[in-house]
Amino acid sequence: MPHVITQPCIDRVEKACIEICPSEAIHPAEDTNLPEDERRNMSYINPDECVDCGACVDECPWEAIFPEEEVPEQWQKFIQINAKAFA
Ligand code: SF4
Repeated sequence: MPHVITQPCIDRVEKACIEICPSEAIHPAEDTNLPEDERRNMSYINPDECVDCGACVDECPWEAIFPEEEVPEQWQKFIQINAKAFA
């Protein structure tokens, strides 16, 4: 189960998670496949590249990153959003 970036990242993008990720799984919006009008000002995790190490979780000052199985109810849609970004 990959990790997922959620709502608190929007408009607060921190690059620390991108830098610490050992598999280069975290990408800025402009590097995703999302159409321009669906892109938010946040980072996205490619579920096919994430190796579930958890290193990004502690790097995020906004507590925006969760293992997929622990994403809070109100942010569940971000599981699909992150996946769609790399479909
Ligand atoms: S859990 Fe590890 S591999 Fe997955 S996005 Fe975070 S730092 Fe990268």
